[in-house]
Amino acid sequence: MYGVTPVGEGAKHRAAYDVIVFDQEDGGHPSTVLGAASVASLRPTPGTRQAGATMTFTLYPDTRLALARDSLAGLSVGDALGSQFFVPGRHPADLAADRLPPPPWQWTDDTEMACSVLAQLAAAGRIDRDSLALDFAGRCEPYRGYGPGAVRILRLIRTGTPWPVAAASAFDGQGSCGNGAAMRVAPLGAYFADSTSRVVAQAQASAEVTHAHPEGIAGAVAVAVAAARAARARLEGDRPDPERLLASVAAAVDPATEVHRGVRRAAGLLGRPLPEAVDTLGNGSRVTAPDTVAFTCWVAATHLDDYPAAVRACVEAGGDVDTTAAIAGGIVAAYTGVATDGGVPADWLAAREPLPDWVG
Ligand SMILES: [Mg+2]
Repeated sequence: MYGVTPVGEGAKHRAAYDVIVFDQEDGGHPSTVLGAASVASLRPTPGTRQAGATMTFTLYPDTRLALARDSLAGLSVGDALGSQFFVPGRHPADLAADRLPPPPWQWTDDTEMACSVLAQLAAAGRIDRDSLALDFAGRCEPYRGYGPGAVRILRLIRTGTPWPVAAASAFDGQGSCGNGAAMRVAPLGAYFADSTSRVVAQAQASAEVTHAHPEGIAGAVAVAVAAARAARARLEGDRPDPERLLASVAAAVDPATEVHRGVRRAAGLLGRPLPEAVDTLGNGSRVTAPDTVAFTCWVAATHLDDYPAAVRACVEAGGDVDTTAAIAGGIVAAYTGVATDGGVPADWLAAREPLPDWVG
């Protein structure tokens, strides 16, 4: 198994990369992707080779998975560390001063569900809504901090109600607009880093099994696209400027949603102080997608090359801290990786409760 080049190393090693991604849906910008074992194993996509066009290749499954696992590391550490700040006596100032809570840091529902998403991608390479719904329901440990609405939907699914019925039944038939579909999706975005249209479709599928409301789904799409852009930027060895990152997120999200408007507002707040961003965008304290996703995208765009800074910003902002740190952490780690300069610190990862065995 080969790893993913640490961020910042990209330019140096570019010549060693031997897979090229050509994503027609994204306007055909070729990107360079590392990780292939040999040039002989390149897999051109038939029928796309034309005069003047770059050949099309696909990302190798191992590379996809390595990116998704890094994102999951960032998500789970953010979740586990963030949730420590609900313990009485813990203060954001401690983290700012590098005083870490004593381990182990227990992860919560964000991580449990993200592990199911990743396990399914690892096994099948795509989201199958029926089996994802059963995985979520079967693996739910309610003490992990699931909201009452989520527990109810998952109990219905576990006892035989089809997921479309269970998901639609939430909130008097409107479906959930909560941040639960967004909190678990960043690794999926990293996995599909080579195709925005696949990211959008697969994020939507992963959201629908529990979130029938357009805002809940839009939240997942926004976070997945942000993580995909982050992973892609890592492969290209280029840090995207924050405006460009948020513009591509906004462009992929249903323009009729509050999530879309929030991401656009977030773009207008780049460079502004954290409290101002929180005032305008929220901090997840309402546990809705609109109240959570724009803020976390702002944090990730602002601190894309500094994982600890992204998590610290979420902790300082307060609100639904485990989830905001999980979302921002999942996006940022898709770019920084783990135990790299600016990446998920090795000691933070070691302090996190181990992930469940079934995630592999
Ligand atoms: Mg949680």
